[in-house]
Amino acid sequence: KVKRKPLVAANWKMNGDRALVEVFTNALNQKCFSGLDVVLCPPFPYLSLFNAETFSIGGQDISHLKNGAHTGDVSVAMLQEMNCKYVIVGHSERREHHGETNEIVAEKAHRAVSEGLIPIICVGESLEVRKEGFVERFITEQLQAVVSVMSADILQQCVIAYEPIWAIGSGETATPEQAQEVHAFIRGFLADYDEAMASRVRIIYGGSAKPSNATELFKQTDVDGGLIGGASLNTDDFIAICQAAI
Ligand code: PEP
Repeated sequence: KVKRKPLVAANWKMNGDRALVEVFTNALNQKCFSGLDVVLCPPFPYLSLFNAETFSIGGQDISHLKNGAHTGDVSVAMLQEMNCKYVIVGHSERREHHGETNEIVAEKAHRAVSEGLIPIICVGESLEVRKEGFVERFITEQLQAVVSVMSADILQQCVIAYEPIWAIGSGETATPEQAQEVHAFIRGFLADYDEAMASRVRIIYGGSAKPSNATELFKQTDVDGGLIGGASLNTDDFIAICQAAI
């Protein structure tokens, strides 16, 4: 397995409160995650409440624009001022409920990385697409939009998250083989563009990952960690998942 530093990111979505921020800060700061990047992505209002020592903080989304009259949106510069290092872009919930297109997601990723944040770019197919046998075509379209706005040098700094929509919040996890198959496909797609970049870029898995399945998933050749939703709201579960990635 090519050595890439694993990464485990928590996506709290619209969950959590001040008390949970404190519980997580205390629990994570007591741990030493050597050889692993741990990222916590809470809702925007809580970003400034973390006193993170052993982990990093990230946003769950950003605007593709720099600043201006965009009510409700948050910029890369604002996240940076709140000490964020990462930002999730193109989560399937944003794509579905906020109409984010492949092009918008690519612009968000480009803006994030060019202004110094590490984007965690989410891709992944619905059950319908999988049943029809179009997984590779669907993911190619999502990735093509990203690749066409970024040089290999820039892309290398990004993280890709493969999140099959049918596995998100459903309790149904992709098998390690299913995950590996798509992760290898993604790396192969990137390798056609630039081989060195493809071997360095981290591709993490998301979709009902939990302590009981994390070890097998993270063992796969092209799985470099995870993006965790439901199980990231419980410190014991999240820490167990982090430990499975080391
Ligand atoms: C997610 O939505 O990013 C996710 C992985 O959710 P869950 O772990 O709850 O399936």
